[in-house]
Amino acid sequence: MNCSEFKKYWIEGNINDLDSDLQEKTLDHFHSCKACSDAALAATLEARGVHVDSYPCVHMAQYAEFHCDQHPDPKDCHDATIKYDEIFDEYSIPHGDGVSQLTISNCPWCGTKLPESKRDLWFDTLESIGYDDPWDQEIPEEYKSKSWRVHS
Ligand SMILES: [Zn+2]
Ligand SMILES: [Zn+2]
Ligand SMILES: [Zn+2]
Repeated sequence: MNCSEFKKYWIEGNINDLDSDLQEKTLDHFHSCKACSDAALAATLEARGVHVDSYPCVHMAQYAEFHCDQHPDPKDCHDATIKYDEIFDEYSIPHGDGVSQLTISNCPWCGTKLPESKRDLWFDTLESIGYDDPWDQEIPEEYKSKSWRVHS
């Protein structure tokens, strides 16, 4: 199977409509072709209303938009491999303790360069307007979301 056949069967069509031989070939292609498995993932996310283009790559889109029904807090969920913090525009790998984390600068799956964390800028900006202990202070609302760094 080639990529355009895969696209026709999986992304534009429905794999359940295929006979079992063709289903198997389509799945084989999915597992062996990275471009197509990424395209299939992007199509699934877009169908859920996710704007894949607003993330560095489809993998980060998947994790940034990941929600688990069983674990409302992502630190309890083993499937939440990458955590995205929209306040700091920061991607990280949570540690087992649920508190510390490892900030990453490239996507582990495709190597795409990720944005520089705005964590320091967030602290510096708040300090410059008089908040030197933002965790304990009542900070302006826009600093509790991405609003402080995204100007619409
Ligand atoms: Zn392909
Ligand atoms: Zn979970
Ligand atoms: Zn990626």
